[in-house]
Amino acid sequence: MAVKSDIVIGVDLDGVCADFYGRMREIAAEWFERPIDDLSAEVSYGLSEWGIKDHAHYDSLHRFAVTQRELFSSMEMIPGARKYLRLLSDEGYRIRIITHRLFIHYFHATAVEQTVNWLDSHGIPYWDLCFMKEKSQVGADIYVEDSPDNIEQLRDKGLFTICFGNSTNRHIVEPRAESWEEVYILVSSWNGTGRQ
Ligand SMILES: [Mg+2]
Repeated sequence: MAVKSDIVIGVDLDGVCADFYGRMREIAAEWFERPIDDLSAEVSYGLSEWGIKDHAHYDSLHRFAVTQRELFSSMEMIPGARKYLRLLSDEGYRIRIITHRLFIHYFHATAVEQTVNWLDSHGIPYWDLCFMKEKSQVGADIYVEDSPDNIEQLRDKGLFTICFGNSTNRHIVEPRAESWEEVYILVSSWNGTGRQ
């Protein structure tokens, strides 16, 4: 088994470190001009429960959230992210943040600035910061991810991928973590292969 300093943990941000769906719910309530309690907290990927009809509709809300409500710098941290990432980093693991946030053309400087400010102000330790759509190309040993499609793609390539549990991925099988403490336990017991 590799020594810890050789092990790279690829950590997703939205839905894993940052409470993407909690903040989007607040912003969506404003965008739709509806009471927040009308919007279920139990959403699936694509937010159809809130009345998002298709990809273009989703993009419109997402664009509003990012460009007008500073989504990337205004999300709450998911509890435990700071504590357990620091613990893993102190133990020698290499934390590599991997996020697909550069999807709005000509808005990259702001997206990167909001992201870096958020990471610093929440005390999230990391060595590398990758803005990537194809996460498998980053080359981490362990991935922590919440998007069902991304998890399936990474696992199809034989990569050890921990599903960080939320309402969008209840159908995804183990390895799963419902908290950062559970991520820590899974990472610590990883045996160096694609599967446990
Ligand atoms: Mg995510």
